[in-house]
Amino acid sequence: MHDEPLDPFHGDPTDPAADLGALDGEEFDELTQQERQDLMDDLGELEVFQVLLGPRGIRGLVIDCQDCQEPHYFDWDLLRGNLRHLLDSGRPRVHEPAYDPDPERYVSWEYARGYADAVDDMAEGMDEPTS
Ligand SMILES: [Zn+2]
Repeated sequence: MHDEPLDPFHGDPTDPAADLGALDGEEFDELTQQERQDLMDDLGELEVFQVLLGPRGIRGLVIDCQDCQEPHYFDWDLLRGNLRHLLDSGRPRVHEPAYDPDPERYVSWEYARGYADAVDDMAEGMDEPTS
């Protein structure tokens, strides 16, 4: 976390940069800086999840699909591919969940995050310097 000084032109309609931003964003339908950052964060988390959970037999994550109203099962590689695709193109892929998955081998994003946090806490309890 870092505190940056507020943009003095923030919210000011005469901000000379405002027009540029609007043009760039609307015309090309690009991801915002924030969206890109979120995707990068997701990819980073995914790496951690796979390292921690892969050896325990977990093959990927299960994600509730808003369109189908049912859970979809994504292998690690597929999930990573989807995120990268979104990062590169700005468009989500049509979902292509794993075929005939074993639900026992997939966990939710929340579960994986909680698991990673728990491992992190355990690591902090050891003598290693944390940074
Ligand atoms: Zn779906």
